[in-house]
Amino acid sequence: MTDPIAPRTALRIQRARLIDGTGAAPVDDAVVTIDAQGTITYAGPAATAPPAAGERVLDADDRTVLPGFFDCHVHLAYAHGAAPGRRAELDPVLVTLDTVTRLRRTLDAGITTARDLGGLSAGFRTAVETGRVVGPRLHTAVRIISHTGGHADVRLPDGTDLSAGMSEIADDTAAARLAVRRVLRDGADLVKVCATGGMGSPYDDPDDEGLLEEEIRAVVDEARRHGGKQVAAHAQGNAGILNALRGGVTSIEHGYGLDERALDLAAERGVFVVPTLSTVYAGINKDTMPDYHYQKKTRWSGVTKENIARAIEYGARIALGTDAAVGPHGVNLMELSYLVDLGMDPMAAIVAGTRTAAELLGVADRLGTLTAGRTADLILCDGDPLRDIGVLGDPANIVCVVQDGVVRKDLLPTATEGRL
Ligand SMILES: [Zn+2]
Repeated sequence: MTDPIAPRTALRIQRARLIDGTGAAPVDDAVVTIDAQGTITYAGPAATAPPAAGERVLDADDRTVLPGFFDCHVHLAYAHGAAPGRRAELDPVLVTLDTVTRLRRTLDAGITTARDLGGLSAGFRTAVETGRVVGPRLHTAVRIISHTGGHADVRLPDGTDLSAGMSEIADDTAAARLAVRRVLRDGADLVKVCATGGMGSPYDDPDDEGLLEEEIRAVVDEARRHGGKQVAAHAQGNAGILNALRGGVTSIEHGYGLDERALDLAAERGVFVVPTLSTVYAGINKDTMPDYHYQKKTRWSGVTKENIARAIEYGARIALGTDAAVGPHGVNLMELSYLVDLGMDPMAAIVAGTRTAAELLGVADRLGTLTAGRTADLILCDGDPLRDIGVLGDPANIVCVVQDGVVRKDLLPTATEGRL
């Protein structure tokens, strides 16, 4: 990544408490060194660190250093709470400018990599990659494949498409393959399908099935034929979750209806679960939601908490995702608190947002952990996240964000910065 505004220099983070994203116990008085190419050269105790060599020093003053986090389920092109119909109302220029603002806020919240599951043009990924805008490194599904009348087919009764370019309609296996080819043509990094109905769509229900199992299998096969692209399945009710799992998807998004059988099948196939608890804990608002949406949400929130708590206890392969847009943008790491509220250990929640998320995105060889040889994406936070995971959810506590070796956010007192 090139960024003319923020040139990269070698960095040395010292006097830090290191949580490296692998789940290992924290290391007090740690040092992380980063070379001028943005690669971590050392992360460990100060006692065995290489000597300082004129790097720019960030003195953590006992703050915690963690890997840059991932949010594996966002919709950055949409404002929080914007009902599908409202999305089509804005001038595209305003949508772009608002999206740029959301990218920055998401990065400032500690998210250095985000996976957008519908609505975000591939141009934003390229814009971040090339330094045109500052934001999380992006993987985008561009559009969502849904059947006619399914979760992502948002229309007025007169047929007017209100999806604001978000939907790709497919009603048989041939159309499913064509839909995959279309989104990949438009630069998608992965494919998103609707395996069930949802909350925000007026005329379907989370328990409704979406694409048929054979259609999902066709999507997965077509994605495989294009460099083995991943397939994320919007899957809320149990029947659709099972269709998605049998169809061969990479991740179950939401997973509200996960039962023991689905958990077994997911474990057997190495499928990830992205529970998006933010939609349940922070995404319900009677005043701003259409009534049908509010009713479905409240009906499902108890079931969701029960089933996700069981998935946590079961040891499902959980990766952090918020569904930001349904919930608020820019406070993505509140999701960690919700996972912990349902029984996850704070360290396991951190791993869900770092190493496991990197595994889901297929980038664990470069990102997700603070170890020598990895790309330098990291954050410094105030407070002790192992004692109070909630500190990570407040962007004010994320005092420093380094992405690809570039300091993107720096609220450290200047007195603690210097050169050795
Ligand atoms: Zn979503």
